Amino acid sequence: MSSGWQKSSKWVFSFSQGKAEGNAQEKDSLGGKGANLAEMCNLGLPVPPGFTISTHVCEYYNANQGHYPEYLKPQVKDAMSALEKSMASKFGDKDNPLLVSVRSGAAVSMPGMMDTVLNLGLNDKTVLGLAKRSGDERFAYDSYRRFIQMYGDVVMGVPHNLFEEALKEKKKKIGTKEDSHISAREWQEIIKEYRDLIKTATGKDFPQDPLNQLWGGIDAVFGSWMGRRAITYRHLHGISDELGTAVNVQSMVFGNRGETSATGVLFTRSPVDGARKLYGEYLINAQGEDVVSGNRTPENIADVKNGQPVINQHIPEIYGQILETANQLESHYRDMQDVEFTVESGKLWLLQTRAGNRTIAAAIQVAVDMCEEGLITKEEALLRIDPNSLDQLLHPTIDYKNTQVALTTGLPASPGAATGVIVFSPDEAETRADNGEDVILVREATSPEDIHGMHSARGILTASGGMTSHAAVVARGMGRPCVCGASELVVKESKNFFRIGDTTFRVGDIITIDGTTGNVFAGAIGMVQPKLTKAFEKYLNWADQLSTLVVRANADTPEDCKTALKFKARGIGLCRTEHMFFAPERLSLMRQMILAETATARLEAIKKIQPIQHQDFKEIFEIMAGHPITIRLLDPPLHEFLPRNKQEIEKVSKESGLSVAVIKHRIAQLHEENPMLGHRGCRLGISYPEIYEMQVRAMLEAALEVAAKKASAPMLEIMVPFVANVSEIAFWRERIEAVAKETLKGKAKINYQIGTMIELPRACITAYEIAPEVDFFSFGTNDLTQTTIGLSRDDTSEMLSDYLTSGLISKDPFQSIDQRGVGALVNMAVELGREVVPDLKCGVCGEHGGDPDSIDFFHRAGLNYISCSPYRIPVARLAAAQAAIRNRNL
Ligand code: PEP
Ligand code: MG
Repeated sequence: MSSGWQKSSKWVFSFSQGKAEGNAQEKDSLGGKGANLAEMCNLGLPVPPGFTISTHVCEYYNANQGHYPEYLKPQVKDAMSALEKSMASKFGDKDNPLLVSVRSGAAVSMPGMMDTVLNLGLNDKTVLGLAKRSGDERFAYDSYRRFIQMYGDVVMGVPHNLFEEALKEKKKKIGTKEDSHISAREWQEIIKEYRDLIKTATGKDFPQDPLNQLWGGIDAVFGSWMGRRAITYRHLHGISDELGTAVNVQSMVFGNRGETSATGVLFTRSPVDGARKLYGEYLINAQGEDVVSGNRTPENIADVKNGQPVINQHIPEIYGQILETANQLESHYRDMQDVEFTVESGKLWLLQTRAGNRTIAAAIQVAVDMCEEGLITKEEALLRIDPNSLDQLLHPTIDYKNTQVALTTGLPASPGAATGVIVFSPDEAETRADNGEDVILVREATSPEDIHGMHSARGILTASGGMTSHAAVVARGMGRPCVCGASELVVKESKNFFRIGDTTFRVGDIITIDGTTGNVFAGAIGMVQPKLTKAFEKYLNWADQLSTLVVRANADTPEDCKTALKFKARGIGLCRTEHMFFAPERLSLMRQMILAETATARLEAIKKIQPIQHQDFKEIFEIMAGHPITIRLLDPPLHEFLPRNKQEIEKVSKESGLSVAVIKHRIAQLHEENPMLGHRGCRLGISYPEIYEMQVRAMLEAALEVAAKKASAPMLEIMVPFVANVSEIAFWRERIEAVAKETLKGKAKINYQIGTMIELPRACITAYEIAPEVDFFSFGTNDLTQTTIGLSRDDTSEMLSDYLTSGLISKDPFQSIDQRGVGALVNMAVELGREVVPDLKCGVCGEHGGDPDSIDFFHRAGLNYISCSPYRIPVARLAAAQAAIRNRNL
């Protein structure tokens, strides 16, 4: 395949008000800045004329050791002549000199590259011409010193601060702080100092020949593409090195030409909240770099409170022109614009326009408003926002404007930020939280017994575990910020401290975690609180209108269900009943049930558990009335529930009446080398059917109770986990129906369905056998990923990060579904299942149900619903709409 430069012979593209050799679509060859300058010229807007040297020249330059293509120089010469003609001046002419700016401009805006040189073409002779023609000697020498300063810095590599220091010294001597108080003669003295400074620093003279100056500027732009900062930036943002930057050479307009001249930047709407009002700043009698350098504080174009045009006080009637131009740009580009402008002696000039950066709240407001103003369609509005960015709106986030360097970074397991005192035990988390303290629970890894501490904590930090580890799943479900797998942490839970490098953090020390980025900070860090706007609601309602995937929530508690409804979940896709047993008093009953040696003893424990389950289900059914609710029968890898140490064993012994020896014996009996592939899911149910039977009974009785009170009876979906073989689900279908028959005999009608999780490869491969036995499939993609790839969901975070950094995989398969591997099994199961049961309901309840790329895949796989943690619901709603829109015409 040949590169752009190998096919090109035209390297230079001219533009002037009313006509241009290019347009906004040609960003790849003209760069963002050049393409938009051309577009603005075509629109007839006031743009100083100039030309763009294409990005393909940069590609050529890089591929040919810094040489230029053969016809570049003549083309630049011709473009320069045309520019001279349109400006009625001459480059390097001592009487009437043409001056230009030289600016870089890649297809995507990119810090780290040479940015701008202004006033190029000035030298000891042309400065006299500028002074004469403008009638303002002071302005001419100010422009010349600015040029030497910028050129010296960005082209010749003399540190910027050397110039600033020299100027400061001079001002001190003159006895002023203001540039405007410096006379032409004093500027001339400064110019001499600057030139000496360049000579000392580089051993070279400041170039006097304008053509040398021009090519020096062009070389610097192309050279900066391969500068270290630019390369690092591109690698961090996934931008290819091959693209290259363009160079824009444009005739100068002067914002430093007195009190009716100015330089400024504006946003056509507020980049903070999206409000439809002009938002911009300007500096009178200044050039662009004055705004960037921060040496002078710019003023608002209009009063922030009452919208009165402040700029008109300096430059009469200019506000109206600015506003009109801003409106014209917006309606043309159909997006909020970030515009650079200059006013020279009362006349407005545009130097750049591009889509403005904005906060996510502003992005939603702008998308909704623009759609209602008829500028964009609903589909366009919905495609404009990255679903993942909605997370920022749902949790407090770190105010990165004033933030120190992170201590360490782990996995961004559950979004949002939290500050609190460090504790290392869940009990202490609970006690301190009860006393009103904000705590961060720090653990090597969490386990189900930590749940009360996790619930009490503001945030959770673990040293090990991946994105689907216990800590991550539970924290996301609860909406608690969580950073997990922070492997630099050495956690000594029993000694109440952790170490990072040489620094030790003890219980009671304050830290801040950011579950959105994975950063961990020492001390308290400033936060920004979330605020959900009307625009946010409207936007997501539009999303629901266009999506075909229904979004449900994974919710285990009444509190989760309320959160899910607040975010407009349309049902519960997974209620993990084992999560209901983590509270200390329940855990004890659960342990008694698991440790029971005889069926009678087990039934004893079960009898005590049933009313608790009944109550749980009743509350959930009441909250979720009118929505489908999938309740999964118990799926605990047993090890998660067994007592681990001496104290716990003694506690269970006291509560259950079993001797310590018996408990130890039973633990040894139940020990599994590989519990995630062991006695869990329906396998446990098959060994101890009375557990599942109790759960089904509790569900149906609760449903009866709610149905008697509520207008709409619960739409119950009973789900059997970890099915590999049709015989397992057939076994359970028969028993569930038998329990239902007995429980509902002579009572009200309760609609219930029976379904299975599809989370093992064998279940996918034999989906045609399983489908006739069930009413629905729910893909458990956490386990399906673990078992398809043969990759432990709890132990592989460090290994995966090696794979990611060395590029062996591009995404964590527990975060975003492995479409070609695990995804192929999902597709196979849907197809095989629907071959025998055409309207088989299929959904997903693994963590992937909240990941936008995975959601796009599930849409294409033809699933009916996705289910995710309550706090991911807005993300999933938008991602589902985007999937529907993108795939509509495929
Ligand atoms: C799954 O495996 O994807 C699932 C939802 O079940 P769990 O995470 O509870 O194993
Ligand atoms: Mg599972």
